[in-house]
Amino acid sequence: MASIFTRIVNGEIPAATVYEDAQTLAFLDVNPASRGHTLVICKQDLPTLLDLPPDLLAAVARSVQVVARAIMVALHPDGVTIVQNNGTASGQTVPHYHVHIIPRWEGDHALSHWKPGTITPDELRELAVTISARMGTKDVA
Ligand code: AMP
Repeated sequence: MASIFTRIVNGEIPAATVYEDAQTLAFLDVNPASRGHTLVICKQDLPTLLDLPPDLLAAVARSVQVVARAIMVALHPDGVTIVQNNGTASGQTVPHYHVHIIPRWEGDHALSHWKPGTITPDELRELAVTISARMGTKDVA
């Protein structure tokens, strides 16, 4: 059965997309740890980092950098946490390879305060436009 992220890739369910290329897709997490929390996935339905061929892993890493730069420019966080789970024991809930980009502000305790239901679909769409508009922009100021 196709993963929920493959259903997003196929356009069967909506997502607040911020970036897309041939091999990868980035969209906002519906249950964000912080404002602008984004997931970068490979479009191919592969469960964990251990399953990806090196070129696909490199493609995801490139997209993570592109999207993280756009987030820095658009939202001006103080830093960014990049995390990635493999297997249920690690906390992986969606068995389709993805990397979390979590913007961080000094003293936000974003990971320890991460709770469901903190953002509406409209807010997600608005934020996606703000971030995707800065894709490819190099200056953070
Ligand atoms: P992980 O626990 O590392 O597997 O992360 C999965 C993430 O996917 C969680 O942070 C969820 O909030 C997020 N998520 C699940 N379904 C969706 C969806 N339809 N759109 C956006 N994010 C999702």
